This record gives sequence, C-alpha cells and structure tokens, in this order.
Amino acid sequence: MNNVKHCYIHIPFCKKICSYCDFCKLFYDTGYVSKYLEILKEEITTFYQGEVLDTIYIGGGTPSSLSDKELESLFLILSCFKRSSDCEVTIEANFDSITESKLDICKKYGVNRISFGLESTHSWILKKMNRKLDLEYVRHIIRYCKKIGIGNINVDLMYAFPGESLKEVGEDIEFIKSLDVSHVSTYSLMLEEHTKLFLEKEKPISDEVDAKMYELICSQLSDYSHYEISNFCKDGYFSKHNLCYWKNKEYYGFGLGASGYLGDVRYINTRSITHYLQKKFRYLEEKLGIYDKIEYDVILNLRTKEGISKEDFFHKYSIKFEDCYSYFELVKEGYLVEEGNFISIPEKYFYLSNEIMVRLLEECKL
Ligand code: SF4
Repeated sequence: MNNVKHCYIHIPFCKKICSYCDFCKLFYDTGYVSKYLEILKEEITTFYQGEVLDTIYIGGGTPSSLSDKELESLFLILSCFKRSSDCEVTIEANFDSITESKLDICKKYGVNRISFGLESTHSWILKKMNRKLDLEYVRHIIRYCKKIGIGNINVDLMYAFPGESLKEVGEDIEFIKSLDVSHVSTYSLMLEEHTKLFLEKEKPISDEVDAKMYELICSQLSDYSHYEISNFCKDGYFSKHNLCYWKNKEYYGFGLGASGYLGDVRYINTRSITHYLQKKFRYLEEKLGIYDKIEYDVILNLRTKEGISKEDFFHKYSIKFEDCYSYFELVKEGYLVEEGNFISIPEKYFYLSNEIMVRLLEECKL
C-alpha cells in the first residue's frame, strides 16, 4: 500500500467551451458520460489500494454539468474510497449548471467544499470568454450552499483579460467580497496556444498592468490570509487538497488527463477519450530521482506563505537545505526571508516568485 492521502478525479465534460481554456475538456454528451463513468470506475478499482484519504477533489471540466442521475452515479463510484473523519471533499461547479438539487446530492454524498468558477462579473468579458453568469443567481446559490451546511466555498476569479481595466478587476473583487465566501483563488489569464483567444490574436495585458492588478487584488483581499501566491482564505479555510500539491505530497489522479504522484513516479493520464475508453490510462510516467524531488519540493513549497521547512527538508533528504542551495544572497536582497525553521518569499515579492525560484535553483550546489 502507498502512503497516499489525497485523490483528484477529473470530470472533463463542459456544456460550453471557454475561449481561453487549455484544460482537458470535452463537450458534454450524456452517452459519453455513462461510458466515461464506467471506465473511471475501472481505473479506480485497478489502482486504488484502500488507503484512508484526507482529501478528495472532483475537478474538471465542469463536474456540475452532469445531470442529477449522473452525479449520483459518480458519487456511488467514489464511495469506494475510505475517508478520514475530517476528509475534505471538494467539487468544482459553474453557476450556469449548478442547481439546488445538484447541491443536495453533493451534500448527501459528503461534499463539504465547493469551488465555483466565476471568473468575471462584466458582461463584455464574459461574452468574450464564452461564459454566462447571472449575478442574482450567484448570490442565490451561495446562500443555498450555506443554508444546507456547505460553508466552505471557493470562488475563482480570472484577471488580466485583454482590454480589462484595473477598475473592473476591483469591481469583481468587491462583488466576491460581498458573497462572504471563505476562499478566493485568482488567476492571471495566460493566452495559451490553440485557444480561441490566442487564435483571434488577442494581445495579452502588459506585465506592468498585470502586476498592478495583482497588487490591487492583494490589497482588497487584505482581510483574507494570502497563504499561497494565488490563493486567499479566511481563518483555517485553506484548501487542504491544494496544500498537498504545494507540499509535494503524493496523490492519486484518476480520469482523463489527470495527473498523479505515487511513490517515486509522477504520471499524466491520456487526454485522448478514445484511448481512455480503451483503458489505456497512462500517457506519461516520470520516475523521479532525489534531485528531481528536491527541485519539486523547492518550487512547490515556495508558492506558499509558509515556504520551505528546513527541518522537513533535512528529514526527507538527510541533507541540510543550506548545503543544497546558496540562498543567502537572495535573503540579503530581501527576496527570501528566513524565519526560524522556514525560508519563504515575502508576500510583497509573490508576483516575482518565478524569477526568484529560477535564481534559487541556479544556486544549487549538488
Ligand atoms: S468550464 Fe472550465 S474546463 Fe470547461 S471550457 Fe470553461 S474553463 Fe475550460
């Protein structure tokens, strides 16, 4: 048995395809959903070894695009997982497909955290994104979640959309704050190749404006804890599941295009639905050596406010962090902070985190 406590399940179906989307997704088709769930069950049965899980994350795609009946079938499949008493069970949902009855089903099967894709509140941006949103319905659904006892709610916001102003980003944040949710995730839009926006030759926002938007978001969300570069939460409401990624822990990944990390192996499942339905699950497997593991640890840990624990590092690799990396110059320049046992990027330099990580990795002594 592996020492795995976390699990990701990918539901790739979406009723509409967003113009910026580079995720693994398929147009919703009820015939495909039932075949997909059947094969997903087989994949889980083949690989899951009965560990007690601390987090289960159902992402997509859009899991809420499934019908009530399909959702019930999904949860019955997932009932094979052993869960710890405080297991965090998250499902992603979009406001154009979530309903009260779907939320009731989620509640019935133990979902205790919901992550909503809101992305923007501005109609011209939503139109260009190929998304729909009724702000009154958003308020209603958030109220309903709280009413049925799912108070752990995340809302995703995308910013730096081509042509978007600082004022519009500020208005989005104000709207999200008015929902009084426990968690906010923010993403700066990347114009990925092969997306509609990229093919339409939309111009990305300048780095300078992007940095200003990030700064504005951070200041408007100052009553939340900025516990990871892109994530903000109220007291204690951090995403246990996402922390498993940032703490470089092992996790199962099931479903089309899902990735996982088991033992020494990181893997990615196929993105081809044809292959997936033929049970050719794995597309890529990368066996990690100690140097790869150390590098993953550094890159992922530094995304969090807490940063790298030197003690944990030594415990894991039997080598001192300072014997691996010359980081004192970065500390002297203020890009890294050393406090007790931890080394971290100060919040004011989060927006430079990629550059800081690259510099640190270049200082590797191994
Ligand atoms: S809902 Fe999410 S996964 Fe589906 S197309 Fe939009 S961004 Fe992509």
